[in-house]
Amino acid sequence: MRKNIAIDGPAGAGKSTIAKIVAKRLGHIYVDTGAMYRAMALFMLKQGVDVNDTEAVKKSAKDANIEIRYEDGIQCVILNGENVNDSIRTEEVSAAASKTSVVKEVRERLVALQQELALKTDVVMDGRDIGTKVLPDAYLKIYMTASADVRAKRRYDENIAKGMECDLEKIKQEIIERDHRDMTREESPLVKAWDAVEIDTSGMTIEEVADRITKML
Ligand code: C5P
Repeated sequence: MRKNIAIDGPAGAGKSTIAKIVAKRLGHIYVDTGAMYRAMALFMLKQGVDVNDTEAVKKSAKDANIEIRYEDGIQCVILNGENVNDSIRTEEVSAAASKTSVVKEVRERLVALQQELALKTDVVMDGRDIGTKVLPDAYLKIYMTASADVRAKRRYDENIAKGMECDLEKIKQEIIERDHRDMTREESPLVKAWDAVEIDTSGMTIEEVADRITKML
C-alpha cells in the first residue's frame, strides 16, 4: 500500500518548505502541484489569453503540454519541452494561476497527471485539493495554516532574499485575494478534508512543524 502524504492550505502557510523536508526524511518524492497550475497560467499569459475568460482558458488548456521530471531530486516542470521552474515564480503568474485554476478542464488535466505520479511512487504532495480530490485515500492528510500577516511576511522575506523589490502590504492583499478565490471557487475549492490534521504554523519553526508531521507517521 502507498504511504502518500497530502498537504493542503493557503498560500504561504509553509507547505512546500515542510513537504520537501518530510519527503527527504521519508525517501518520498515531493510533488508541488501549484507549480503545474503556474505552468498552465504561464502558458496562457505567453499566448496572450485573457485569464479571466473561462472559454478562452478552456480552449487554450488543450495546447499546453505539461510534464514533470526529476533532476537530482528536484522537480522540474516542463512546459511544451521547456523547463519553466524559474519563470513561474512571479506575482503575475501567481495571480494568473489562481484565476485559470478555477476552470474545470484545467483541473481535470492536472489532477490526472498528479494521480499518475502518486501511483508510481510514494509522494508528499502539496496543493489545495490534494486531500479532498487528488489523493482522497492518502495515508496522512495535513491542513496547514498561518495568519495572513505571517504568510505575507514569509513571502516578503523570500522575495527580498532573492533580491526582488516588494511591498509587504501589497503582498498581503494579493495573498488575501488569492485565498478568497481558491476557497470560494466551484471546482475543488480549498477546504480542510474531514480527516485532515490541522496545523497552524504561525508561531512554529520549520523544524517543529516537520517533526510534528513525522511523529504522526
Ligand atoms: O501553491 P501555489 O501558490 O504555487 O499555487 C498557485 C495557485 O495554483 C494557487 O493559488 C491555486 O489557485 C492553484 N492551485 C490549485 N490547486 C492546487 C495547487 C495550486 O488550484 N492543487
